[in-house]
Amino acid sequence: MILLGPPGAGKGTQAEYLVDMYGLVQLSTGEMLRAEVKSGSELGKKAKELMDAGSLVPDDLIIDMISGQIDQHKEAKGVILDGFPRTTAQAEALDEMLGDKGLNIDHVIQMEVDEDAVVERISGRFSCSDCGAGYHDSLNKTEIDGVCDKCGSTEFTRRADDNAETVRSRLKAYREQTAPILPYYEKRGSLDTINGIGSMEEVFDRIKEIVEGG
Ligand code: ADP
Ligand code: ADP
Ligand code: ZN
Repeated sequence: MILLGPPGAGKGTQAEYLVDMYGLVQLSTGEMLRAEVKSGSELGKKAKELMDAGSLVPDDLIIDMISGQIDQHKEAKGVILDGFPRTTAQAEALDEMLGDKGLNIDHVIQMEVDEDAVVERISGRFSCSDCGAGYHDSLNKTEIDGVCDKCGSTEFTRRADDNAETVRSRLKAYREQTAPILPYYEKRGSLDTINGIGSMEEVFDRIKEIVEGG
């Protein structure tokens, strides 16, 4: 299953719900890249500058990375791709690799959220350093101030690229490089578009309807 939508649309948040409810595995290329940056690997060094500028990382690096991850989760009931594919070349490469691996795409869900909402969501985003659970300063607070609801950790992180300036570049990259893949899935009849505005539970209900509808 693929979750598509601009930065800050709520893909990671909805992926968390899907993991909890259906036992799927979430594969986030953004998370993988941030782990590479943190580890100081060659890939991380190449990716860091591009990520900080709000630009996309080259397709070949991303495709190798995700292919390896899909192989590692062969036993999973299903996989949620969050933040991938992001270019037409990635979408084509995904089809090819799934064909080779004997796998297929059940759902492509596009979350529509206007740019003002996206900027508001990104501006207050933070996450648990230990379990990765996502939060927001005003829209999605922890139940107890400073304590993760899921794991009880008191360590949180904010992303280096979640600033007003980089967000503009990321939105531009989305409009110019990622939005063009929507017709690719639409033509095949595998695209569902949902309204990403509303509470997290409301948005999840819309996704559940699609997943449970077949
Ligand atoms: P993405 O993975 O698409 O970049 P996230 O899931 O990280 O987006 O969500 C961005 C921010 O918005 C997070 O701080 C999250 O807590 C918050 N958020 C997600 N969904 C909603 C929603 N439906 N309403 C309000 N805030 C939301
Ligand atoms: P968002 O919250 O903006 O949806 P992600 O966590 O998915 O962010 O991605 C953060 C950054 O990592 C992107 O701005 C980009 O530089 C890089 N990135 C993540 N996924 C991809 C991808 N599939 N192709 C190219 N670059 C990617
Ligand atoms: Zn946690």
